[in-house]
Amino acid sequence: MKFLGGYMANEYYNMRRIVYGEGVTFVPVCDKCGRFVRADKIIAFSGLGNLKKTTNANCCKCGRTNMIFEGFI
Ligand SMILES: [Zn+2]
Repeated sequence: MKFLGGYMANEYYNMRRIVYGEGVTFVPVCDKCGRFVRADKIIAFSGLGNLKKTTNANCCKCGRTNMIFEGFI
């Protein structure tokens, strides 16, 4: 899997999503290496549009990392 940068949602069109509480949607893929990650059960999210700058998943290669944020559904 090769990342070209920019908005990558189309590449993950058929992948599963993780949706938190109010429709905050992530693709459970490491934003550093592209491996599937284990998402945290609870992420730091503080209201509309305010995703805190913190890690929210565990990658088997990178350790603490971030999933790819897709948007609000
Ligand atoms: Zn990784």
